[in-house]
Amino acid sequence: MKIEFFKHNVGAEEKQAVLAVLDSIFLTTGETVAQFEKDLANYLNIPYCIGLSHCTGALHLALLALDLKAGDEIITTPMTFVATSLVIAHIGAKPIWVDVEKDTGNLNTDLIEAAITSKTRAILPVHLYGQMCDMKAIRKIADKYGLVVIEDAAHALESERDGIRVGELSDVACFSFYATKSITSGEGGAIVTRSKRIADKLRLLRAHGINKEVLERYGQNYAHWDLVDLGWKYNMSNIQAALLLPQLKKIAVTWQRRKEIDLKYREAFQNMPKLYPNAKSAHHLSTVWVDPKKRDSVLQKLQNRGIGVAVNYRPIHLLSKFKELYKRESGSFPEAERIGNSTISLPLYPKLTKFELIYIIANLKQILE
Ligand SMILES: *Cc1c(COP(=O)(O)O)cnc(C)c1O
Repeated sequence: MKIEFFKHNVGAEEKQAVLAVLDSIFLTTGETVAQFEKDLANYLNIPYCIGLSHCTGALHLALLALDLKAGDEIITTPMTFVATSLVIAHIGAKPIWVDVEKDTGNLNTDLIEAAITSKTRAILPVHLYGQMCDMKAIRKIADKYGLVVIEDAAHALESERDGIRVGELSDVACFSFYATKSITSGEGGAIVTRSKRIADKLRLLRAHGINKEVLERYGQNYAHWDLVDLGWKYNMSNIQAALLLPQLKKIAVTWQRRKEIDLKYREAFQNMPKLYPNAKSAHHLSTVWVDPKKRDSVLQKLQNRGIGVAVNYRPIHLLSKFKELYKRESGSFPEAERIGNSTISLPLYPKLTKFELIYIIANLKQILE
Protein backbone atom coordinates (compact mmCIF):
# COMPACT_ATOMS: atom_id res chain seq x y z
CA MET A 1 0.00 0.00 0.00
CA LYS A 2 1.31 3.43 -0.98
CA ILE A 3 -0.99 6.40 -0.70
CA GLU A 4 0.60 9.61 -1.94
CA PHE A 5 0.18 12.71 0.19
CA PHE A 6 -0.87 14.56 -2.96
CA LYS A 7 -1.70 13.81 -6.58
CA HIS A 8 -2.29 16.57 -9.11
CA ASN A 9 -5.15 16.69 -11.59
CA VAL A 10 -3.21 17.27 -14.76
CA GLY A 11 -4.74 15.05 -17.45
CA ALA A 12 -5.52 14.85 -21.16
CA GLU A 13 -7.01 18.34 -21.44
CA GLU A 14 -4.04 20.00 -19.76
CA LYS A 15 -1.57 18.04 -21.91
CA GLN A 16 -3.45 19.09 -25.04
CA ALA A 17 -3.33 22.73 -23.96
CA VAL A 18 0.41 22.57 -23.28
CA LEU A 19 1.05 20.92 -26.67
CA ALA A 20 -0.85 23.73 -28.37
CA VAL A 21 1.44 26.27 -26.68
CA LEU A 22 4.53 24.26 -27.62
CA ASP A 23 3.38 24.29 -31.25
CA SER A 24 2.98 28.06 -31.13
CA ILE A 25 5.68 30.70 -31.47
CA PHE A 26 5.19 32.11 -27.97
CA LEU A 27 6.28 30.15 -24.90
CA THR A 28 6.64 32.96 -22.40
CA THR A 29 4.13 35.58 -21.19
CA GLY A 30 1.65 35.96 -24.08
CA GLU A 31 -1.98 35.38 -25.04
CA THR A 32 -2.41 32.22 -22.95
CA VAL A 33 -1.32 34.06 -19.80
CA ALA A 34 -3.64 36.95 -20.72
CA GLN A 35 -6.51 34.45 -21.09
CA PHE A 36 -5.76 32.85 -17.73
CA GLU A 37 -5.60 36.27 -16.06
CA LYS A 38 -8.97 37.13 -17.58
CA ASP A 39 -10.55 33.84 -16.50
CA LEU A 40 -9.18 34.04 -12.95
CA ALA A 41 -10.31 37.67 -12.61
CA ASN A 42 -13.77 36.62 -13.81
CA TYR A 43 -13.88 33.66 -11.45
CA LEU A 44 -12.98 35.83 -8.46
CA ASN A 45 -14.98 38.82 -9.71
CA ILE A 46 -12.00 41.16 -9.26
CA PRO A 47 -11.07 43.49 -12.15
CA TYR A 48 -7.30 42.94 -12.40
CA CYS A 49 -5.21 39.79 -12.31
CA ILE A 50 -1.46 39.44 -12.92
CA GLY A 51 0.01 36.01 -13.64
CA LEU A 52 3.30 35.28 -11.90
CA SER A 53 5.91 32.58 -11.53
CA HIS A 54 5.00 31.75 -7.91
CA CYS A 55 3.13 33.02 -4.87
CA THR A 56 6.38 33.92 -3.11
CA GLY A 57 7.00 36.37 -5.96
CA ALA A 58 3.38 37.52 -5.72
CA LEU A 59 3.77 38.34 -2.03
CA HIS A 60 7.09 40.06 -2.69
CA LEU A 61 5.70 42.23 -5.50
CA ALA A 62 2.59 42.96 -3.44
CA LEU A 63 4.75 44.55 -0.76
CA LEU A 64 6.72 46.55 -3.34
CA ALA A 65 3.64 47.67 -5.28
CA LEU A 66 2.09 48.92 -2.03
CA ASP A 67 5.26 50.94 -1.29
CA LEU A 68 6.19 49.00 1.83
CA LYS A 69 9.78 49.65 2.82
CA ALA A 70 12.65 48.83 5.12
CA GLY A 71 11.77 49.60 8.73
CA ASP A 72 8.02 49.12 8.24
CA GLU A 73 6.18 46.69 10.48
CA ILE A 74 3.76 44.21 8.95
CA ILE A 75 1.32 42.28 11.14
CA THR A 76 1.03 38.63 10.15
CA THR A 77 0.77 35.07 11.44
CA PRO A 78 3.41 32.59 12.62
CA MET A 79 1.15 29.69 11.53
CA THR A 80 1.99 29.62 7.82
CA PHE A 81 4.54 28.62 5.23
CA VAL A 82 7.83 30.55 5.57
CA ALA A 83 7.28 32.52 2.33
CA THR A 84 4.70 34.80 3.99
CA SER A 85 7.28 36.32 6.34
CA LEU A 86 10.33 35.70 4.16
CA VAL A 87 9.27 38.37 1.67
CA ILE A 88 8.78 40.83 4.55
CA ALA A 89 12.34 40.17 5.68
CA HIS A 90 13.62 40.53 2.11
CA ILE A 91 12.39 44.11 1.81
CA GLY A 92 13.94 44.93 5.20
CA ALA A 93 10.57 45.26 6.89
CA LYS A 94 9.71 43.40 10.08
CA PRO A 95 7.10 40.67 10.51
CA ILE A 96 5.10 41.36 13.66
CA TRP A 97 3.54 38.04 14.46
CA VAL A 98 0.36 37.79 16.49
CA ASP A 99 -1.08 34.54 17.78
CA VAL A 100 -3.82 32.56 16.05
CA GLU A 101 -7.32 31.45 17.01
CA LYS A 102 -7.14 28.22 18.93
CA ASP A 103 -10.00 26.53 17.04
CA THR A 104 -8.92 27.34 13.47
CA GLY A 105 -5.28 28.41 13.34
CA ASN A 106 -6.24 31.65 11.56
CA LEU A 107 -4.84 35.03 12.63
CA ASN A 108 -6.67 36.13 15.79
CA THR A 109 -8.07 39.51 14.80
CA ASP A 110 -8.71 40.41 18.47
CA LEU A 111 -4.93 40.61 18.97
CA ILE A 112 -4.12 42.87 16.03
CA GLU A 113 -4.75 46.31 17.54
CA ALA A 114 -2.44 45.69 20.49
CA ALA A 115 0.39 44.93 18.03
CA ILE A 116 0.03 48.18 16.09
CA THR A 117 2.78 50.79 16.56
CA SER A 118 3.73 54.00 14.75
CA LYS A 119 5.74 51.85 12.30
CA THR A 120 2.89 49.51 11.35
CA ARG A 121 1.99 49.79 7.65
CA ALA A 122 0.21 46.58 6.69
CA ILE A 123 -1.69 43.47 7.76
CA LEU A 124 -0.89 40.22 5.95
CA PRO A 125 -3.39 37.49 6.90
CA VAL A 126 -3.12 33.90 5.66
CA HIS A 127 -6.34 31.98 5.01
CA LEU A 128 -5.13 28.80 6.65
CA TYR A 129 -6.16 25.42 5.19
CA GLY A 130 -8.74 27.19 3.01
CA GLN A 131 -10.74 29.03 5.65
CA MET A 132 -10.88 32.80 5.36
CA CYS A 133 -9.73 35.00 8.20
CA ASP A 134 -12.25 37.56 9.39
CA MET A 135 -11.65 40.03 6.55
CA LYS A 136 -14.39 42.41 7.70
CA ALA A 137 -12.64 42.84 11.05
CA ILE A 138 -9.23 43.15 9.40
CA ARG A 139 -10.42 45.78 6.91
CA LYS A 140 -12.00 47.76 9.72
CA ILE A 141 -8.79 47.83 11.74
CA ALA A 142 -6.76 48.65 8.62
CA ASP A 143 -9.01 51.61 7.79
CA LYS A 144 -8.91 52.88 11.36
CA TYR A 145 -5.08 52.96 11.35
CA GLY A 146 -4.46 53.68 7.65
CA LEU A 147 -2.90 50.29 6.86
CA VAL A 148 -2.89 48.27 3.65
CA VAL A 149 -4.07 44.65 3.58
CA ILE A 150 -2.40 41.85 1.62
CA GLU A 151 -4.09 38.43 1.60
CA ASP A 152 -1.94 35.31 1.38
CA ALA A 153 -4.67 33.32 -0.35
CA ALA A 154 -2.42 30.41 -1.37
CA HIS A 155 -4.90 28.00 0.29
CA ALA A 156 -8.03 29.91 -0.52
CA LEU A 157 -8.91 30.15 -4.22
CA GLU A 158 -12.47 28.95 -3.60
CA SER A 159 -13.07 30.49 -0.17
CA GLU A 160 -15.89 32.72 1.03
CA ARG A 161 -16.97 33.96 4.45
CA ASP A 162 -19.88 36.14 5.55
CA GLY A 163 -20.63 36.89 1.89
CA ILE A 164 -17.04 38.06 1.27
CA ARG A 165 -14.66 36.40 -1.16
CA VAL A 166 -10.88 36.52 -1.33
CA GLY A 167 -9.61 39.72 -2.89
CA GLU A 168 -12.78 41.62 -2.07
CA LEU A 169 -11.74 43.59 1.02
CA SER A 170 -7.95 43.64 0.67
CA ASP A 171 -5.67 45.82 -1.43
CA VAL A 172 -4.21 42.73 -3.12
CA ALA A 173 -4.64 38.96 -2.79
CA CYS A 174 -1.90 36.47 -3.69
CA PHE A 175 -2.42 32.94 -5.03
CA SER A 176 -0.18 29.92 -5.50
CA PHE A 177 -0.27 27.24 -8.20
CA TYR A 178 2.55 25.28 -6.62
CA ALA A 179 2.64 21.49 -7.06
CA THR A 180 0.31 20.72 -4.12
CA LYS A 181 -2.21 23.53 -4.55
CA SER A 182 -5.82 23.08 -5.72
CA ILE A 183 -4.95 24.04 -9.29
CA THR A 184 -1.31 23.73 -10.26
CA SER A 185 1.26 24.37 -12.94
CA GLY A 186 4.05 22.87 -10.82
CA GLU A 187 5.14 26.41 -10.05
CA GLY A 188 2.91 29.42 -10.54
CA GLY A 189 1.20 32.33 -8.85
CA ALA A 190 -1.06 35.32 -9.36
CA ILE A 191 -2.18 38.56 -7.75
CA VAL A 192 -5.61 40.10 -7.99
CA THR A 193 -6.46 43.71 -7.18
CA ARG A 194 -9.26 46.21 -7.70
CA SER A 195 -6.79 49.04 -8.31
CA LYS A 196 -5.63 49.77 -11.86
CA ARG A 197 -2.69 51.75 -10.50
CA ILE A 198 -1.47 48.78 -8.44
CA ALA A 199 -2.11 46.39 -11.34
CA ASP A 200 -0.02 48.54 -13.68
CA LYS A 201 2.79 48.68 -11.14
CA LEU A 202 2.68 44.90 -10.69
CA ARG A 203 2.90 44.34 -14.45
CA LEU A 204 5.98 46.53 -14.56
CA LEU A 205 7.58 44.87 -11.53
CA ARG A 206 7.03 41.31 -12.77
CA ALA A 207 9.07 42.04 -15.90
CA HIS A 208 12.22 43.74 -14.63
CA GLY A 209 10.69 47.22 -14.63
CA ILE A 210 10.74 47.38 -18.42
CA ASN A 211 8.04 49.66 -19.82
CA LYS A 212 6.92 47.37 -22.70
CA GLU A 213 5.90 43.80 -22.01
CA VAL A 214 7.24 41.23 -24.40
CA LEU A 215 3.82 40.60 -25.96
CA GLU A 216 3.56 44.29 -26.82
CA ARG A 217 7.03 44.19 -28.35
CA TYR A 218 6.26 41.15 -30.49
CA GLY A 219 4.55 41.59 -33.81
CA GLN A 220 5.59 45.19 -34.23
CA ASN A 221 8.67 46.60 -35.77
CA TYR A 222 11.44 46.92 -33.27
CA ALA A 223 11.06 49.92 -30.99
CA HIS A 224 13.34 50.89 -28.12
CA TRP A 225 12.09 50.14 -24.65
CA ASP A 226 13.22 51.63 -21.36
CA LEU A 227 13.92 50.50 -17.82
CA VAL A 228 11.71 52.68 -15.64
CA ASP A 229 11.74 50.82 -12.30
CA LEU A 230 13.83 48.23 -10.44
CA GLY A 231 11.71 45.16 -11.09
CA TRP A 232 12.03 41.41 -10.80
CA LYS A 233 11.65 38.41 -13.10
CA TYR A 234 8.40 36.91 -11.84
CA ASN A 235 6.25 36.60 -14.98
CA MET A 236 4.07 33.56 -15.69
CA SER A 237 4.74 31.65 -18.93
CA ASN A 238 2.21 30.50 -21.53
CA ILE A 239 3.13 26.91 -20.64
CA GLN A 240 2.08 27.45 -17.02
CA ALA A 241 -1.11 29.24 -18.08
CA ALA A 242 -2.01 26.42 -20.47
CA LEU A 243 -1.82 23.93 -17.60
CA LEU A 244 -4.00 26.12 -15.39
CA LEU A 245 -6.79 27.11 -17.80
CA PRO A 246 -8.55 23.71 -17.96
CA GLN A 247 -8.14 23.18 -14.19
CA LEU A 248 -9.78 26.53 -13.48
CA LYS A 249 -12.77 25.47 -15.61
CA LYS A 250 -13.17 22.31 -13.48
CA ILE A 251 -12.60 24.02 -10.14
CA ALA A 252 -16.13 23.48 -8.77
CA VAL A 253 -15.89 19.73 -9.39
CA THR A 254 -12.47 19.25 -7.80
CA TRP A 255 -13.50 21.44 -4.84
CA GLN A 256 -16.63 19.32 -4.30
CA ARG A 257 -14.58 16.13 -4.23
CA ARG A 258 -12.09 17.58 -1.70
CA LYS A 259 -14.97 18.79 0.43
CA GLU A 260 -16.49 15.29 0.54
CA ILE A 261 -13.17 13.79 1.62
CA ASP A 262 -12.56 16.49 4.24
CA LEU A 263 -16.04 15.89 5.67
CA LYS A 264 -15.34 12.14 5.88
CA TYR A 265 -12.22 12.87 7.93
CA ARG A 266 -14.32 15.17 10.11
CA GLU A 267 -16.87 12.41 10.73
CA ALA A 268 -14.04 10.11 11.80
CA PHE A 269 -11.93 12.52 13.88
CA GLN A 270 -13.17 15.17 16.30
CA ASN A 271 -9.87 16.89 16.86
CA MET A 272 -9.61 19.02 13.75
CA PRO A 273 -9.76 22.78 13.13
CA LYS A 274 -13.34 23.99 13.39
CA LEU A 275 -15.18 25.12 10.25
CA TYR A 276 -16.69 28.61 10.44
CA PRO A 277 -20.45 28.91 10.03
CA ASN A 278 -21.68 31.00 7.10
CA ALA A 279 -18.49 30.29 5.16
CA LYS A 280 -17.19 28.19 2.30
CA SER A 281 -13.83 26.59 2.97
CA ALA A 282 -11.57 25.82 0.03
CA HIS A 283 -10.84 22.51 1.83
CA HIS A 284 -7.20 22.85 0.89
CA LEU A 285 -5.78 20.79 3.77
CA SER A 286 -7.28 18.26 6.17
CA THR A 287 -5.34 18.42 9.41
CA VAL A 288 -5.88 16.43 12.59
CA TRP A 289 -4.54 17.42 15.99
CA VAL A 290 -2.98 14.67 18.09
CA ASP A 291 -1.21 14.62 21.44
CA PRO A 292 1.99 16.68 20.91
CA LYS A 293 4.02 14.02 22.75
CA LYS A 294 2.90 11.41 20.22
CA ARG A 295 2.74 13.52 17.05
CA ASP A 296 6.08 12.56 15.56
CA SER A 297 5.58 8.85 16.28
CA VAL A 298 2.10 8.98 14.72
CA LEU A 299 3.68 10.58 11.64
CA GLN A 300 6.18 7.70 11.45
CA LYS A 301 3.53 5.03 11.94
CA LEU A 302 1.30 6.46 9.21
CA GLN A 303 4.23 6.46 6.81
CA ASN A 304 5.17 2.91 7.83
CA ARG A 305 1.67 1.93 6.74
CA GLY A 306 2.20 3.60 3.37
CA ILE A 307 0.25 6.79 4.07
CA GLY A 308 1.80 10.05 2.86
CA VAL A 309 1.64 12.87 5.42
CA ALA A 310 2.85 16.43 5.92
CA VAL A 311 3.06 19.01 8.71
CA ASN A 312 1.39 22.35 8.00
CA TYR A 313 3.04 24.00 9.82
CA ARG A 314 5.61 24.18 12.53
CA PRO A 315 5.26 27.84 13.62
CA ILE A 316 7.76 29.89 11.67
CA HIS A 317 8.98 32.15 14.51
CA LEU A 318 10.85 29.12 15.90
CA LEU A 319 12.67 28.21 12.66
CA SER A 320 16.37 28.94 13.02
CA LYS A 321 16.82 31.99 10.80
CA PHE A 322 13.69 33.79 11.95
CA LYS A 323 14.57 32.98 15.55
CA GLU A 324 18.02 34.48 15.05
CA LEU A 325 16.60 37.61 13.38
CA TYR A 326 13.51 38.33 15.48
CA LYS A 327 14.36 36.60 18.76
CA ARG A 328 10.97 35.13 19.58
CA GLU A 329 11.27 32.21 21.98
CA SER A 330 8.95 29.28 22.39
CA GLY A 331 5.98 30.37 24.47
CA SER A 332 5.60 33.61 22.47
CA PHE A 333 2.56 32.36 20.54
CA PRO A 334 1.03 29.52 22.54
CA GLU A 335 -1.84 28.65 20.19
CA ALA A 336 0.33 28.59 17.07
CA GLU A 337 2.88 26.46 18.94
CA ARG A 338 0.25 24.05 20.23
CA ILE A 339 -1.13 23.60 16.71
CA GLY A 340 2.37 23.28 15.26
CA ASN A 341 3.25 20.57 17.76
CA SER A 342 0.08 18.55 17.28
CA THR A 343 -0.86 18.86 13.63
CA ILE A 344 -0.76 16.18 10.92
CA SER A 345 -1.98 16.80 7.36
CA LEU A 346 -3.74 13.88 5.69
CA PRO A 347 -4.05 13.11 1.95
CA LEU A 348 -6.75 15.33 0.41
CA TYR A 349 -7.16 15.41 -3.37
CA PRO A 350 -9.79 14.39 -5.93
CA LYS A 351 -7.89 11.31 -7.10
CA LEU A 352 -7.89 9.79 -3.60
CA THR A 353 -10.03 6.65 -3.91
CA LYS A 354 -12.79 5.57 -1.54
CA PHE A 355 -10.70 2.56 -0.62
CA GLU A 356 -7.64 4.68 0.17
CA LEU A 357 -9.75 7.01 2.30
CA ILE A 358 -11.17 4.09 4.31
CA TYR A 359 -7.65 2.68 4.73
CA ILE A 360 -6.30 6.02 6.02
CA ILE A 361 -9.15 6.52 8.49
CA ALA A 362 -9.00 2.95 9.81
CA ASN A 363 -5.23 3.03 10.24
CA LEU A 364 -5.09 6.42 11.91
CA LYS A 365 -7.86 5.36 14.30
CA GLN A 366 -5.94 2.21 15.16
CA ILE A 367 -2.68 4.14 15.69
CA LEU A 368 -4.41 6.69 17.95
CA GLU A 369 -6.03 4.01 20.16
C1 LIG B 1 2.37 27.46 -1.04
C2 LIG B 1 2.33 28.68 -0.18
C3 LIG B 1 3.07 29.83 -0.45
C4 LIG B 1 4.13 29.89 -1.50
O1 LIG B 1 3.68 29.59 -2.75
P1 LIG B 1 4.71 29.36 -3.94
O2 LIG B 1 3.83 29.42 -5.14
O3 LIG B 1 5.33 28.01 -3.74
O4 LIG B 1 5.71 30.44 -3.90
C5 LIG B 1 2.89 30.95 0.34
N1 LIG B 1 2.04 30.93 1.38
C6 LIG B 1 1.33 29.84 1.70
C7 LIG B 1 0.40 29.89 2.86
C8 LIG B 1 1.47 28.66 0.95
O5 LIG B 1 0.81 27.55 1.29
